[in-house]
Amino acid sequence: MMRAMTAERADALDIIGDIHGCLDELVRLLGRLGYERTRGGGFQHPNMRRLVFVGDLVDRGPDSPGVLALVMHLVNAHGAFCVLGNHDDKLVRYLMGNPVRMTHGMQQTVDQLEGKDQTFRNKVAEFLRSCPTQISFQHLDLAVAHAGLRESMIGETSRRARMFALYGESTGERDVFGFPIRHPWAELYRGTQAIVYGHTPTHAPNWVNNTICIDTGCVFGGSLTAVRFPERQLVSVAATRLHYTATRTMPGFQLSAL
Ligand code: MN
Repeated sequence: MMRAMTAERADALDIIGDIHGCLDELVRLLGRLGYERTRGGGFQHPNMRRLVFVGDLVDRGPDSPGVLALVMHLVNAHGAFCVLGNHDDKLVRYLMGNPVRMTHGMQQTVDQLEGKDQTFRNKVAEFLRSCPTQISFQHLDLAVAHAGLRESMIGETSRRARMFALYGESTGERDVFGFPIRHPWAELYRGTQAIVYGHTPTHAPNWVNNTICIDTGCVFGGSLTAVRFPERQLVSVAATRLHYTATRTMPGFQLSAL
């Protein structure tokens, strides 16, 4: 599996947060960003901007196969980029025949994939196995990874860097709900390269030391967010409805928004 990637192209980018099967909101966000549908079922921007996905394409939401089909087409035919998220990584392991626990909305994805043929499932597995866990866009002084990155891990291909990019870093302690307490890497980040990531649903994206989380909990009834580079402009569309009920309050995520 490809683990880190350096992109050389000089195009401007629109980076999109955790989709989790929310196909309708993805299509609406692409429209809001100015992308136009192509005859082949893809989308392209009149100013040749390019799309980047922070991963977690699947689980919990209404149409994970539809999101996979669209993102695969955008990457294969329209020069989009996609980094692997922890949910996507788990789906590859499932598709490769490995035992996985059907938790965190994975059952929905597996049920939805029942309606798809083996050729599609093979294409999904092949695509997700080709996704890097981080991409550096050096012309924009930017790196993208699903759960974030420490400065020392930019471009690094170790298992440690890969696990950090997928899951973030746990302190080894657990909160009162039994969930791992996450390491505050963003608060400690001092790098000059901006880090754009998702993974942790937040009500409103905030820049923290040149890092920004753009997972705004669409599948939990929040919104789907993009950040544009080099403009650093945020563009969001509201969730069409609450697709999945969170089992606990997300850090920084307002229950009133659910
Ligand atoms: Mn996620």
